[in-house]
Amino acid sequence: MSAAAAPAHAAATLRPGAPAPTTPDARVAGAMKGFAREIGALSAFRLESCIHCGICAEGCHYYIATEDPQYTPIWKVEVFKQAYKREASPLAPLVRLLGFKRAVRADQLEQWQHLLYDSCNLCGRCSLICPMGIDVTALIEQARSAMFEAGLAPPALYHRAAHQRETGQPEATAEPLREQLQAIGERFEVPLPIDQDAADVMLCVSRTDIEHYPAAVAALARLMQHLGVSCTFRSAALVAENYGYYAGAKDWQGEISRRLIEQAIACGARTLIIPECGHAYTALRWEAADLYGGPLPFEVLAASEFLAAELAAGRLKLRRAAGPTVTFQDPCQLARRGGVEAAPRLLMQAMGIDLREMKNHGAFGFCCGGGGGVINIASARPLHYRTMETKMHEIEAAGGEVLLTSCSDCRYTFDDAQAHFPGAKAPASLLELVAQHLDDQRAPAGKPA
Ligand code: SF4
Ligand code: SF4
Repeated sequence: MSAAAAPAHAAATLRPGAPAPTTPDARVAGAMKGFAREIGALSAFRLESCIHCGICAEGCHYYIATEDPQYTPIWKVEVFKQAYKREASPLAPLVRLLGFKRAVRADQLEQWQHLLYDSCNLCGRCSLICPMGIDVTALIEQARSAMFEAGLAPPALYHRAAHQRETGQPEATAEPLREQLQAIGERFEVPLPIDQDAADVMLCVSRTDIEHYPAAVAALARLMQHLGVSCTFRSAALVAENYGYYAGAKDWQGEISRRLIEQAIACGARTLIIPECGHAYTALRWEAADLYGGPLPFEVLAASEFLAAELAAGRLKLRRAAGPTVTFQDPCQLARRGGVEAAPRLLMQAMGIDLREMKNHGAFGFCCGGGGGVINIASARPLHYRTMETKMHEIEAAGGEVLLTSCSDCRYTFDDAQAHFPGAKAPASLLELVAQHLDDQRAPAGKPA
């Protein structure tokens, strides 16, 4: 297999506040330290179990689009497998003695930045189809953590993660997010409760929505109002996204999650609702408790999950209305890695939507192409657009007049792609559609969450 070309920004990221791995040896030491920290019995088992069948390649849209062997999912962790075999496997002394595996070099790590960040959406499709049940995506996440320790997280992700860890939001904004949120409430004439001392539900917001899709923020608030839910945003922890997760900065990811956790505890929330943001769901639903150090004293639900439960309980009343046919983009972190596959379909069914599914949908759907932080990495764009072709063909073939999704990053990715795929549909938000279908004639009076 050919090694990936090292991107120009490969050596540009060092971690402030920690010994900076500026020399090649220090980079390797940092990466190995990070990998050693992450590797456990389960990961060792995964690395040992691979039978090199190559089936995971058929599941990955990077390989499908390019047929380049370097984009085979398990190859993306090869450099760390090499380190494991040489340093930590049961036969490590023999491997070293006989020279079966060479020591990892700094230039190898720099080359692997492209494979671990630019060309992986952390979408989980490879893990789904591996016949040995190897969670390749989890290995890639661990490898990203090691790359972060080596100072090799891409600057676009590193700086956002660092800023979010320091301030609570990924980038500085001319107007604080709290004021932006209030302005959305005024513009859409919907109450946006902020900093209530006590609430049953804590809400957070996708920064992508605040910047690009404020109607989705208003829709969530409108739905909460309709249901009579006691809820609040907390200005100390507004942002759902977690760039520490993307960068592979496990400690920072934990600190970013902790902000939300502490605010939810402070207001006594029993439920934390994640807005339309796939990776925020993974970070908070599946990974936050581990990084927090114990079970969360509240449940974490995606907005679509919460609404589907309200629908099933008879509290959410929706109008069925004739409308355009719909093709639905399942966010990977919700449908495949989170199991939230039925909830959006129950909501669409209740609205009388004629759903035209893609060939690969639900848990088997392909990533929009923007996940894993890829949409934030400029150098990844050419390959990203090439990779999106599979998805765009499936959307076209499905034939829905409207492209709907429940992730604002998917939505932004499809919006961004319109310039590259003439005739591509503008994506729409499931949350906004649900708010438009509220049956106000049968609105329930204030109910407990
Ligand atoms: S599908 Fe599984 S066993 Fe086959 S090469 Fe990929 S990771 Fe290894
Ligand atoms: S997680 Fe998705 S993008 Fe990454 S290697 Fe696996 S299938 Fe490919």
